[in-house]
This record gives sequence, C-alpha cells and structure tokens, in this order.
Amino acid sequence: MATDHSLGNNAFLAKIDRLRETNVGAQIPLPQVIVVGDQSSGKSSTLESLTGFAFPRAVNLCTRYVTQISCIRAPTKEICVSIIPRPNATPEIKARLQDFHHRLNNMDAASLAAIFQQANKAMGIEKIEGGPENTPAFSEDTLKIDISGPDERHLTLVDIPGIFRVSSPGVTTDGDIQLVLNMVKRYMENPRSIILAVIPANVDIASQEILRLAAEADPEGLRTMGVLTKVDLVSEQALKETILELVNGHRNPLKLGYCIIKNRGADDDTSSANALAAADRAFFQTPPWSTCSASALGADALQARVRSLLLDISKREFPNVRAHIESRRAAIMDQLAALGPSRADEGAQRRHLVKIAAQAQDLIMRATNGHYMGNNGIFQRVDALRLVTKLVGQNEIFSKTLAEYGHIQNFRASDDDDSDEEDVQVWLFEEPKNTLRGVSAKAQKNDQLKGADNKAAREYSDIQDIVTPDTTFPTPKRGPLTNLIREVFQASRGPELGTFNGTVLATIFRTITTRWEPLMLSHISKSIKYVHDFTHRLLEEICPDKKVRDELWGVLLRDELRQRYQSAMSHGKFLLDIERNGPPVTLNQIFNTTVQSKREETLSQRYQEGGSKPEAIIALGMKQLNLGDTENSEMICDDLLNTIESYYKVARERFVDTLCQQVIYHMLLTGPDSPLQILSPDRIMQLSADQLEAIAGEDMVTVDQRQTLQRQLDSVENAMTVMRS
Ligand code: GDP
Ligand code: MG
Repeated sequence: MATDHSLGNNAFLAKIDRLRETNVGAQIPLPQVIVVGDQSSGKSSTLESLTGFAFPRAVNLCTRYVTQISCIRAPTKEICVSIIPRPNATPEIKARLQDFHHRLNNMDAASLAAIFQQANKAMGIEKIEGGPENTPAFSEDTLKIDISGPDERHLTLVDIPGIFRVSSPGVTTDGDIQLVLNMVKRYMENPRSIILAVIPANVDIASQEILRLAAEADPEGLRTMGVLTKVDLVSEQALKETILELVNGHRNPLKLGYCIIKNRGADDDTSSANALAAADRAFFQTPPWSTCSASALGADALQARVRSLLLDISKREFPNVRAHIESRRAAIMDQLAALGPSRADEGAQRRHLVKIAAQAQDLIMRATNGHYMGNNGIFQRVDALRLVTKLVGQNEIFSKTLAEYGHIQNFRASDDDDSDEEDVQVWLFEEPKNTLRGVSAKAQKNDQLKGADNKAAREYSDIQDIVTPDTTFPTPKRGPLTNLIREVFQASRGPELGTFNGTVLATIFRTITTRWEPLMLSHISKSIKYVHDFTHRLLEEICPDKKVRDELWGVLLRDELRQRYQSAMSHGKFLLDIERNGPPVTLNQIFNTTVQSKREETLSQRYQEGGSKPEAIIALGMKQLNLGDTENSEMICDDLLNTIESYYKVARERFVDTLCQQVIYHMLLTGPDSPLQILSPDRIMQLSADQLEAIAGEDMVTVDQRQTLQRQLDSVENAMTVMRS
C-alpha cells in the first residue's frame, strides 16, 4: 500500500476537499463518499470507526445537517470544527457562519459537546432565548470536522442526516421527513458520489428503504456499497447465514459488495479508539465471520476500500469536473449577460435606457430608409420591421383605390360599365393579419376565443379610438354624371350668361368626393397601425425584459404615440377639408389642356349629331325650362362635365400626393415629430429619476436572480482557482 500513503494521493484528495468547500458542489457533482441510512442505523458510529472521531452522544440525538469529516495528514494532532455555509447563504449569514471556528487538540467529550451546541445555534437550528418561535430542526449548512495528525491518511466522508418516517412532536415535523428524504436523494443522485448504505444487520435487510433509494439513484449498483452494522447483535443462525451470503457476494445486486463492521455499542461510553479497534478485530476472528474474505471485515478493511474507491472516482472524474466547471462558468456568464448590468441607481438606469434608445434609432433609420441588410438579419426575421416598405405599399393601394372607387359615380357612360349593382362588396385594402377590423366587438370576441390574437387586440386597444375600421363601398354608379350636374346647376345658377359660377363646380366636386373622407381615414389608420406594430415589435426585439418594456410603453410611449397619431389624423382631415370644401383651385397646366381637348370633343360630337334637338331635351324631363334657355344650359352642363372631370383628376392626384407626402411620410415616418422619434437618447436624458426608476428599476426577482448567479459565479471561480493550484 505504498502508493496509498503517497503524498500525491493525499494532496489530490485534499484538493477535492477544497473544491467541495467552494460550494461548487451545489452546481457540479463532485467526487465524494456519502454515508446514508435510516436514523440509528449506525452511521455516526461507522464514521467513528473509520475516522476515530466520536460524535458527542448527549447533544446530538440525531444528525441535523450534513457533516463532512476529513482525516488529514499533518505534523500536529488537532481537530478543527467549522461550518461551510449553505450555497444560497446571504452575505450576513455567511459572515456569521464563517465566524464559527474551533480548534481542539484532543477529543474531550465535554468541550466537543459545547462546540456542537454552538454550531447548532450558529446554524439557527437550536432555539435561542428571544429567537424566532419556529426554529427549524434541520439546516442546509455543512459542519466540517478536520482531524489532523501525523499518521492520518487523507480520507473525507460525508455524513447525511438519517431518513425517518415518524415525526416527533416539538422536535421534527412531517415536513422535516420530506426535507431529509430530499436531501438524502440529492446527495445520492450525484453520479460522482460513492454511496455507503449503512444497514443494521439485526433487522430485515432486504426491506431497508435506503437500499430502495440507492437502487433508484444508482440502478446498476456501480457506486453503492452496503455496510452492515450491529452484526454483534445478531444471534439467529438464519440471519447470520443471510449476512454471510450477502458478504460473500451471492445474489448480490451491488457491484461494490457488502462490508461488515462492529461499532461501539449503545452501552459503551468509555472504550478508547484503540480498544474499539481491537474489539472489532477480535470479533471478526470468530466464526462464522472468520470464513469471509478479510477485505469485507472490520473498520480497517472498510477504510482501505473506501479510500481507494474515493481515489479512483476522484482521479477518473477530475478532468470531467474541470470541463464541467468551465462550461458552467460560461453558462453563468451568458445568463448574467442576458440580465444586463445591474440597474440599482439612476445613472445605471439611464445608461440602460439610452442604450436601448440608441439601438432603436439605429433600427428606425434602417427601417425608414429600407436598408434591411445586417443587424443579424432582424429585418428578415421580423416582417413588421420593414416599415417603409409597408407604407409605400399602403400608399399605392390608397392611390389605386381612390382612383377606382373615390368618386360616387362614373363621369361618362361606358359600354362595359356593370357597376350599377348596389353595394358590391369591395375590400378597399388588402387584409393583413390582425387587421384593424379586429376592433369591432364581434371580431374582438372571436379574437378572445382564439386566444392567439389576444396580444394584437391588446396592442390595438391603445389606438382603437384614434383609428377607423376598414370599410366596404359599392363600386361607383353607372355614368354619366349629367343628371347630377344638371340638378346642381339648376339649383345654384346665378345671373351669368352662358357660363357657370365657382359655387356650382365646388358643389359638384364636394358631392362626388364624399367617399374621400372614409377612404382617407382608413388609409391613415392602416398606416398608423403599421407604425404602431413596428414600434411594438421593435421594442420586443431590443428590450427583451418584459417589465422594462411594459413600463417604457406606459410611462414614455403610449400617450405620446397617441398624440402623434392624432396629429396625423387631424392633418389628413385638414388637407381634405381644403380640398373638398375650399374653392376649386389649380394652376396645373394639364387641367387647361384636358378641358380644352374635352370641349373640342364635345363640340364635334354635337355637330355630328346634327345640331341641337329640343325634343330630345324635353324627353330628358326638363319640362319646366323654356326651350330657348334649354339649349344654352345643356351646353353649359356639357361644359361643366368636361371641367369637373378634368378638375377631379388633377385634384385627386394632388390630394393623394400631398397626403402621402405630408401625413404618411412626414408626420408618421421621417419628420422631427414622427412617432418614431419618441424613443430617442435625447428623450431618455429628459426623464426624471422617478420615471427612470419606474421604467428601468429592477424587480426583486431579477435582483435575486442576479445575486444567485453572482454567488454561483464566485463559487465556480473559486473552484477554478483550486483546480489550478
Ligand atoms: P445513526 O443515527 O445512524 O448515526 O446511528 P448511531 O451511530 O447514532 O447508532 C445508533 C445506536 O446504535 C447507537 O446507540 C450505537 O451505539 C449503536 N450501534 C451502532 N453500531 C453498532 C454496532 O455495530 N454494534 C452495536 N452493538 N451497536 C451499534
Ligand atoms: Mg448520526
């Protein structure tokens, strides 16, 4: 066993111990030997036999925390007792627990008992005067006992509280039963744990719950070893034979096999360690135990086996642990990065929001210029961000729709004019998903039923009262417009001779453009919806933290967005009002040339018809007019039709251009007061401290999350230092 004593192995095992003390074990399974079993199965006694450390009997009725006992080779003999704080300990708890530190140079029972009592107090599991009413019975801290001496060989064992099935009033609760069970399971599930399952031999071994748990955690039995205690209490021959069978490896599901050990009995308060070891040796020299392999008998054999198992698994797993720690560090760094920097004060909050706003402005610039390349393909991934494309398309649809359906009646009769059916359903706009028609009560209900569009419905609820739903229109009535023109002319003619006044033209124009308003409102609404959609999706992309996003929306965006949408709407109405209700005006040369050519066409047509035919005019139902006038007014009405038709075209094109240029591009997209300018670094700089806190202040969950990650990172980095040492 020369190698076993070697400094290399001792140092190696000590390194694993130091790793365990960094608490990295809570994140990454570390190689260890754990001692598990029922309460009173003999765990503590077995530890005593293996390490020489005797737990004070009086204070410690049962183990109420994990105890890590290490034998350490050192020049001087001493015992150190300290506490490794639970992995999630706050800095205060940590400081208090790290204050607990005791050194002894012998195992004086009375001083040990006092130290254990203090440990209980430090961990908060012993009731102290004036302390909290419900003192917990178990702690997640670890008691660390280091036994040093010149003839120690390095060995560390981890004692886990024993499982129990019945709570004792005033001491343990039903909750504690589960708590301990979970603790035991957690330690056993660690694939790098060697499980020493302690089983009293004087009971029905096969029915021990700990064996069932071990089989769950280690189904192949590769890392579980059975330790049978209290064999000295077994008197029945049949039971002895069962034990012999187990130890000799017949029908044995545990690849590491069974060991038998004889510990200090319940009545033995005095025997020294040497006396105990001697009694243990003597006992196993008697039949029937003397027939078993010596490697399965007694404390010395068990200690040697456990140590070599621990060395094996530690050496085998060391490279894996190293890799695991490194990848864990990378994962924590990623998670911390995703959380962003801590936003505890005004400066940090402002920086965070300015960064978001700057990112927003960069993407907005690209979205308004149509520069969709780069930015990790965000414009390829999120269609709603291609804003200028949407608006250009929408403008085209508007222009076409107004040209086709903007007038209530066609100006001329045409052969293929089949448009006189009333209320032909015409979808004026392409119908994207989440259309604004979704705001109608019925559609909203449908949305709710579907659930999927709920989000959209909620988003549009912000602008429901500003935008108008899509509308349907009949196609324009069959032409020509002559009747309408005649009516208006007769109703408003003045004393002019052979011509018409401006009011007549204006009135006719107003009458045939009644659809412009709903069409325009629909167009601006649809454009606003694209902008609104864009802003929502943009924010989702650049600000993944939902809380910040919601607050940014509530505090900064919502009201200002609404204002700017409303301005766009009213500017549209302003332009329309001028167009429809003001006097017809145009300096456009095209108007003059069209009117001229239409007039010539009309005259030549009349001439071809063979001059005027009063009868024909009477037939048109204008009986109240005198015939001399009739011919004249007919001429004027013809002229009116030519004028209105020419003017309508010029005015319509002008209106579409002006609306798109001023309302859609300037007011909604590129102008200094466009809704896209709200989320800007400048605007963030103007926010008050309170507003910043409301938007970017962190909630408890995030603060906790970051602290936990930071703690884990500390553990992992300490562990890396240990690994490198
Ligand atoms: P734990 O709750 O699993 O830690 O069990 P303990 O180690 O405290 O043992 C419970 C009782 O069994 C104690 O009174 C021990 O003295 C006794 N005991 C443990 N091992 C043996 C053994 O091998 N032989 C005898 N006779 N008694 C033992
Ligand atoms: Mg115990």
